[in-house]
Amino acid sequence: MSTVSQRPDAGALFGVYIHWPFCAQKCPYCDFNSHVRFGGWDEARFLAAYIRELDDVKARVGRQDVYSIFFGGGTPSLMKPATVAAILDHIGKLWTIQPGAEITLEANPNSVEADRFVGYRAAGVNRVSIGVQSLRDEELKRLGRLHSVSEAKTAIEIARRTFDRFSFDLIYARPGQTLIAWRTELSEALAMAGGHLSLYQLTIEPDTPYAELHARGRLVVPDADAALDLYALTQDMTAAAGLPAYEISNHAAPGDESRHNLLYWRYGAYAGIGPGAHGRLVLPDGQRIATSTEKNPERWAERVEEAGHGFTDETPLTLEEQADEMLLMGLRLTEGIDLEAMARRFRFAPALSEVADLESMGLLEILEAPDDDADIIRACVGPGIAPAAAMTHTRRRPTIRAIGTGRFVLNELVRRLSLKTQAVSPAVQQAATLRA
Ligand code: SF4
Repeated sequence: MSTVSQRPDAGALFGVYIHWPFCAQKCPYCDFNSHVRFGGWDEARFLAAYIRELDDVKARVGRQDVYSIFFGGGTPSLMKPATVAAILDHIGKLWTIQPGAEITLEANPNSVEADRFVGYRAAGVNRVSIGVQSLRDEELKRLGRLHSVSEAKTAIEIARRTFDRFSFDLIYARPGQTLIAWRTELSEALAMAGGHLSLYQLTIEPDTPYAELHARGRLVVPDADAALDLYALTQDMTAAAGLPAYEISNHAAPGDESRHNLLYWRYGAYAGIGPGAHGRLVLPDGQRIATSTEKNPERWAERVEEAGHGFTDETPLTLEEQADEMLLMGLRLTEGIDLEAMARRFRFAPALSEVADLESMGLLEILEAPDDDADIIRACVGPGIAPAAAMTHTRRRPTIRAIGTGRFVLNELVRRLSLKTQAVSPAVQQAATLRA
């Protein structure tokens, strides 16, 4: 049993994600919605479309306090600082940006110049996340990256000078990568890290050039055992360096976690603006809807110009679907997922028998409840009103987290937990809500 600290109620948080869809070159492993336009793009037209889509979302969700803003892509560091400033200004006019809100922009080393970073900072960006990917030049070439290690190091130094908070990404479990080679590379990365590092295992995504090479046997990635060893080494080294994992691939000094990503994983609400962006909006009547937009940048801009938004999908989510999504997101986190909070929020919670089964298989860990008030009244009734059987007490639902191989089969964990999900009776719901 471990202890988990109290966390904020993410149900009340609202973030804004802005997707910038262009890159200087398409990396062969990438399945993100990123596009290359050798003739450039009409940045003023895209800015106008972002503004219109933000207006549309405001009309749907009403007044909000913005907890975090994230410019992702694509390569947002190809945006002019003035474009970023105009988008942030507009978000500030539509909603209240909370004091200290985290405003992150993803950057690629080949598009980093000191002046540009100063421009982003002046626009309001207070955190950058740099796509370094490897500290070996030959590996960067194999990954199809345009930058060199030297450029990556320069970008990290500019970020360190310019922003209070920065992070960079590396990809490991690359073809032929040994434990010793990764240990050396990760040591170098930790020596130049700030408070946050994202360390992703290379995955072969369908319909990418890497998938074709992999299918033809021309790209061999470490097998599952080797990948697990690399993962374990990563956890040990980052923890020893004071940047323990707070999510499967993300590591931070305590307090330096990405607040925007925590908002996703704690299942907050967020607007997804721009081509191919996904969102989870909570409407004034409490209905949560999943949104996604047209992926092609120019077609997205056309849709926005015609309809005011680029949404191709706006699906209301049932409470059961929301509970499943919250499980899938929350199980990624080291802090785990509080099943009691989940039951309060959605009136659904996995059966404890299924949780115990998965725990006995070593896929889940049950964490200690965050307080000593471990009993809740199962039925909110009194003597003489209901049969004695209705007066049974039960332990507070636990916080659970995925461990071991469970971290790599989250969809399967959620499927099993979801199959045995139980509706919480209105009486228990009321008791839990009163207790909260
Ligand atoms: S720079 Fe990033 S988003 Fe663009 S193609 Fe490469 S991996 Fe994908």
